[in-house]
Amino acid sequence: MKNGSKMRMAFVIATVTAISIFLTAMNRRRIRNRNRNKKSPSSSCYLHSEPKPQSAFKRVLADNSYTPFKHFKNSNDSSNNDKASNSHPFEAEITALLKNSRPEIELSTEIADMEMNEAYVWVNTELQLKELVNVLSKERFFAVDTEQHSLRSFLGFTALVQISTQKKDYLVDTIALHDFMSILCPVFADPSICKVFHGADNDVVWLQRDFHIYVVNLFDTSKACEVLSKPQKSLAYLLETYCSVTTNKLLQREDWRQRPLSAEMVQYARTDAHYLLYIATCLIAELKQLDNQNSCDDDKFHFVHEASRRSNSICLQLFTKEVEAPGDSAASSLLSRHVSGQGVASVSNETQTIVKQLCGWRDLMARIHDESLKYVLSDQAIVALSSQPLSSESEIYNLIAQADNNVEMGVNSFIHSPSPVVCSHLSDIHHILSDKLVNHDHIYSWIIQKCLGPNGTCPLTIFNYALLFNSNLKPSLAYKPSGLKNHRQISRKASRDLFVQKFSCKAPVYHNCRIFANDGRLLCYCDRKKLEWYLSRDLAKLVDEDPPAIMLLFEPKGRPEDEDNDFYIQSKRNICVGCGEGSHYLRYRIIPSCYRMHFPEHLKSHRSHDIVLLCVDCHEIAHAAAEKYKRKIAAEFGIPLYVQRVVHPEQESNVQIDEGVSPLQLRTAAMALIRHGPRMPHNRREELTEIVKRYYGGREISEEDLERALIVGMSPHERRRFEKKRGISFRHVGKITAGSEEETHADSTTRISNGDVSKVDSLDDGSYANEETSNNVDREHFMVKDDSGNPSLASDLAVHASVSPTASNGNTSSFEIVDYSESSDSTTNIDGTNLSRKKPNGDLSYPPKDEESTQTKHNSKQSLLGHGPHGQEVVEHLMKEYGEEGIGQFCQRWRQVFVEAVNPRFLPAGWDVKHSGRRDFGEFSVYNPGKRVGATA
Ligand code: AMP
Ligand code: MN
Ligand code: ZN
Repeated sequence: MKNGSKMRMAFVIATVTAISIFLTAMNRRRIRNRNRNKKSPSSSCYLHSEPKPQSAFKRVLADNSYTPFKHFKNSNDSSNNDKASNSHPFEAEITALLKNSRPEIELSTEIADMEMNEAYVWVNTELQLKELVNVLSKERFFAVDTEQHSLRSFLGFTALVQISTQKKDYLVDTIALHDFMSILCPVFADPSICKVFHGADNDVVWLQRDFHIYVVNLFDTSKACEVLSKPQKSLAYLLETYCSVTTNKLLQREDWRQRPLSAEMVQYARTDAHYLLYIATCLIAELKQLDNQNSCDDDKFHFVHEASRRSNSICLQLFTKEVEAPGDSAASSLLSRHVSGQGVASVSNETQTIVKQLCGWRDLMARIHDESLKYVLSDQAIVALSSQPLSSESEIYNLIAQADNNVEMGVNSFIHSPSPVVCSHLSDIHHILSDKLVNHDHIYSWIIQKCLGPNGTCPLTIFNYALLFNSNLKPSLAYKPSGLKNHRQISRKASRDLFVQKFSCKAPVYHNCRIFANDGRLLCYCDRKKLEWYLSRDLAKLVDEDPPAIMLLFEPKGRPEDEDNDFYIQSKRNICVGCGEGSHYLRYRIIPSCYRMHFPEHLKSHRSHDIVLLCVDCHEIAHAAAEKYKRKIAAEFGIPLYVQRVVHPEQESNVQIDEGVSPLQLRTAAMALIRHGPRMPHNRREELTEIVKRYYGGREISEEDLERALIVGMSPHERRRFEKKRGISFRHVGKITAGSEEETHADSTTRISNGDVSKVDSLDDGSYANEETSNNVDREHFMVKDDSGNPSLASDLAVHASVSPTASNGNTSSFEIVDYSESSDSTTNIDGTNLSRKKPNGDLSYPPKDEESTQTKHNSKQSLLGHGPHGQEVVEHLMKEYGEEGIGQFCQRWRQVFVEAVNPRFLPAGWDVKHSGRRDFGEFSVYNPGKRVGATA
């Protein structure tokens, strides 16, 4: 080395060292500050203060989860249907090109103006892109190159696409236009238009990955070089040889995200595409010449054909992504690259385990933060960490900084070491190093939850949300009943299992069918029924089979992402959103039905956000919290939960009293009085009698009143069980209390007894639903099937008895079960689809509703003893005082209650306490109230 360059090198090293010492100090300061501000964990990740360009992408085809990449499905290709799901959508077209002996490479013979002038077109609006498509669709050939960014992205993304026609150079800003690039698909897949690339292997799969762009009819100048046995096949060589142009290939490693691009980068990018058409023309001429020279040969080598064949073989490649976390082989290959001396064999098992765990951590961190592996943590840092015992976070920090300082500077010198990812998550590394043998999967799910869970430290993005739901990792922190101590608990467990088996949803609730807009953008996930609704009306065409997807043939009004409603474009998993339990789940309504049923129709239309799946355990927790909060609402608004209604005709109707009596309170009091009344301490007896009296409007009560109070609010099932237990018939009770309405009542009682026993009987012998100690008697799990055949917990049912003085003879009493949860908004289902008015639930033998009783001045479906009237008053109050805003806030409060009670760790990405749930309905929307009538007719 000459002295001058030695000195330069020394200077560079000194500068770099100084800079890294400075950065290290800065980073340390940042950590200290962060530790001081520990209050808000949500701001602890560096990403919160460092938005990346890709976070604006809405249409991301390859996310960072461990799920395989889904290729475009060509609906025109009928032969494709029975092929493997991830076959090449244009396999047929490309295969045809491979076989064609006269390939479609017909470049013009003279490309006159090869010189690159000043003008080029910077394409960064959708309109410009459409204009470009227009231009390209009229061309017979055009040249293409792409620039990628890979350091600050897990899978990398296309930052620039250069397209050159004979007349113009276009630089397509694929960051600004990421979500619109698919409009280029047709020209790239058009076999009659030849696309010229140089070394297309990577570009072809990158275009698939980012935009579902598939290249059909490719001429690759580097393949032509091979066929022509050129001494070199680099673009730089071709540029020099054919165009006398030199290019600085170091620029390919520039950060192509930067905007505006420097003049040098623009020049480089244009150069990569601009001369390709000219070079290709020259190469094809040479190939043809060789073909002609051998024309008399029988088994001649077709040079043009061979170049075309090799080029188009590249097109058959498919993008795939790594769907497994690094395992043993990744760890040992890393070690073999970085451990000198005696090699991997000399490395202890313990070290290998740490390397593997650190590789796994790095992989996961890279996926979560959408960073490259090398950005997160270098190989040499992993090796350094694994080879010596470290006890504190600052030791870890210093060791990483040191390991990276000791190795190559080059292009990597601008990566801070330790990276912000490491700095934000130093405690993880500490955890791994100090807890070496802990189960791998546990670390993963623990980290995913910590970073991306509801109170996660790191931002949830379109790139990482699926990690939460699609990882096959079993949650390690799932709520489990804590140990089975005694026999009773065992039988309770058995009973619970039976309950789960019988009544949880039998079919997956989310079908994850997709609806695309006519430009290919994903609008929402939904169930099959909704797809059929559109298909049967010729409003959409089927574009995918499994799971099915349709494309709307009309322009939908509004896009979910336009309205910040990303929730509707997330696929949802059929698991408990609370603990991740996947073996059983029930629907849970976050906004209690007694309120929701009174909401204005348009606020109800999107239920899927506020109906989640929960396992029995989480359901119980959520429900208890909701009941408690209802009482709080009642107190806050001064609107009692229960409305008392006078039974006897001689007394005035509808008296609201300050404090309602719940059916449970009433029954418990009545039961206690019947059983132990005479033996009770006086005070207690008075107290209980007071409760029963309150229900009866304050009048004196009789023995019959007590008997009758026992069945108030009971479901048919409860009544039957109660009947069994007590050995009395409610037919009898009916007679006592209702006298002249014997017919009616007897009739309904009979129907109740004949109810679908198989649906509910399992609970009779089980102790779970029957748990005497549980103060939950009221929410014993009576199941009803909803219209999709999936049962829902009847705790959401308002089970009540209503007495209707306005009925025919003035004192008819009848029992009613009203499913509040479904009654008033029965036109929507779990996915928020809104298809047809539901028939009343038939399965559980609802006593027929007295036609006349439906004409009473309050909603006939409203319970007097359930929370219906309370709900109505609350909602009316909110609407009057605060309008729809008030309803929105009210919903947020309920979501908050839910989140605090269940601490759900598996909510779909985009689920938000602040969800607005408002979307306008387009002309063809199934939600459009005008259309609904037509839909159900
Ligand atoms: P090119 O068409 O040769 O400019 O390369 C296209 C893209 O490939 C660049 O934008 C880089 O992201 C990537 N690339 C190609 N070669 C390298 C390399 N040796 N190191 C890093 N990135 C590269
Ligand atoms: Mn390039
Ligand atoms: Zn983070």
